Amino acid sequence: MSTNEPDLQEKQANKMNHEKKPKDEPGIYNGIKNMFTGKRFKFSFWYFIFIIIAMLAINMYMSQDRSTIGVDFNEFKSMIANKEIVRVEIQQEKYVGYNMTKQQALSIVQTNAFQNLTQSSSNLRIYSTYALNDPSFIPLLDEHNVEYYATAPARPSIFSSLLSYILPMLFLLIIWRIVFAKMGQGGGQNVLSFSQNKAKIVAEGDTGVRFTDVAGADESKLELEEIVDFLKTPEKYTEIGGKIPKGVLLVGPPGTGKTLLARAVAGEAKVPFFRMSGADFVEMFVGVGAARVRDLFRQARENSPCIIFIDEIDAIGRTRTGAGLGGNDEREQTLNQLLVEMDGFDSRTGVIILAATNRPEILDQALLRPGRFDRQVLVDKPDLEGRFAILKIHTKNIKLAKEVDLRKIAQSAAGLAGADLANIANEAALMAVRSKRKMVTQADLEEAIEKSLAGLQRKSRILTEDERCKVAYHEVGHALTAKMTKGAPPVSKISIIPRGISALGYTLQYPTEDRFLMSQSELLGNIDMMLGGRAAEEIVCGEISTGAANDIARASDLVRRMITEFGMSERFRNITLPSTNTQGLGVNREYSEAAQEYIDNETAKIVNGRYQKVLEQLKVNREALETIAKKLLEKEVLDGLEFESLAQNLVIA
Ligand code: ADP
Ligand code: MG
Ligand code: ZN
Repeated sequence: MSTNEPDLQEKQANKMNHEKKPKDEPGIYNGIKNMFTGKRFKFSFWYFIFIIIAMLAINMYMSQDRSTIGVDFNEFKSMIANKEIVRVEIQQEKYVGYNMTKQQALSIVQTNAFQNLTQSSSNLRIYSTYALNDPSFIPLLDEHNVEYYATAPARPSIFSSLLSYILPMLFLLIIWRIVFAKMGQGGGQNVLSFSQNKAKIVAEGDTGVRFTDVAGADESKLELEEIVDFLKTPEKYTEIGGKIPKGVLLVGPPGTGKTLLARAVAGEAKVPFFRMSGADFVEMFVGVGAARVRDLFRQARENSPCIIFIDEIDAIGRTRTGAGLGGNDEREQTLNQLLVEMDGFDSRTGVIILAATNRPEILDQALLRPGRFDRQVLVDKPDLEGRFAILKIHTKNIKLAKEVDLRKIAQSAAGLAGADLANIANEAALMAVRSKRKMVTQADLEEAIEKSLAGLQRKSRILTEDERCKVAYHEVGHALTAKMTKGAPPVSKISIIPRGISALGYTLQYPTEDRFLMSQSELLGNIDMMLGGRAAEEIVCGEISTGAANDIARASDLVRRMITEFGMSERFRNITLPSTNTQGLGVNREYSEAAQEYIDNETAKIVNGRYQKVLEQLKVNREALETIAKKLLEKEVLDGLEFESLAQNLVIA
């Protein structure tokens, strides 16, 4: 790069033409192209390395000036003096000397036009030296009549300038690819597709779940069977002109099998199942959730007939607050997009949207409008038969001892949901393994139920003697009050072994049947039982403790509900006083200040009245209270029979 010499430039141009070739090689070219288009992406890291090395080599080869002879400054000066150098090119940091004038060099090129270039230039000698700041240098040139001129600093070759642009870009590109490949495994499909996020949408061809896998939800199943039928034979409905609901909302407490039912619907209808959880839509980037909704519906339309299932829809579907504190634009955008998508298609396309929630009351009204989730299916906690059936399903693969009576287990598991029962079956199996048995016994199952009812048994929690004593009297107070309350379920166990975090002791009453209705006297009886603990403490210890906080909270809550919900007070007999709208700050009640005052006074009056009654009853039976508490302190646990035999001669006022 040291010369303006035409022949040399030509030489360089020639070289370039030859050396450029490898760059056009199809393999590498495709490698680069694939990188950008992302078509059949294989990480072409080695392509880069190869290209970079090749370009570096070319560059080095070209910048090497082989025809130049390096000399030192003194020698250069003496060559000028000897007329060996007749022309000097002054560059920024070096002097280049030639043994021919420009004129001579040109004439040689012309005469040898048809000869080999290298040969023709063989007479040309080029010397170079580093420029020193020598004031006598120019006078020397003048003195020897040397032709001299200065040139601008040589321009870098095209390759090196390309390289200096391309190299950093390539590195950035590599890093970019690696980062994106890591971010959304499979996101490498298309760098710009992170909104599609295939990882989050769970698509199942066949869920493998059938209605027979869901027990105890017969009414819910009945309603969903229609959906299955529609997905199987849509003509039947469309011919008549009937409309099938687009959206079905499964409503019910946690663990009752909503997710399971949705999968069963897809399984029965043998259609693909697209599942996404409400929480998955809400992301840190505004707009991503909406994009996911779009993507979910697009995929569903492409695969119709199918089922879209949005689990825990309350995460996005809760009431839009308008000018909420801080607001949640992202969630609202997502919800809006969902509404738009639901409006935008016809159920005749064969896409049905199922959603599940355990808090239907917080859902935005727009979601429940006709044409959206206009049908709601209640999935409630199972009744006795349901629990029995669920236990049968979940103990199918567990070896049970002959004595096991699942019906009895189901009986004592009142109030538990399907997920709890599944857990109980598993827990019992684990317990059998732990005690190295080959079969699960009734005791294992009972223990598992107790565990799940009252938290883990923890004998390690140490109470002081005084505390234990108080807990014992408290629990016996509950039990005795229960015994004296007409119609209350029998006491089946009293324990002062601490369980879980908060329960210091407990009194278990197994209901003999499921209750759907309760009379006013039964409710009052319940309140008595809750207050019995504290009353016993007061009688024996002369003062009350914090141990009853939970009891009195439940008692006062129940009394308040009797007044406001069940219409069981004197003034508001048969009238409800709703106070449902509890979102935001403060309670929105739909009754007057005076009514509130009445509720407060009445609650206090009823609770106090019941408490006095319980107190009196226990005082009369103090002897029984003392003996049973002593026995309990000694044994820690009393079962139903032991308690009954000790609580024989009670005086019921
Ligand atoms: P939800 O979605 O209502 O919270 P899930 O459907 O996730 O409840 O239920 C969790 C697990 O509990 C299920 O996978 C299943 O094993 C068990 N389960 C719940 N309800 C039932 C039921 N009715 N029949 C059988 N198994 C059930
Ligand atoms: Mg669920
Ligand atoms: Zn209590």
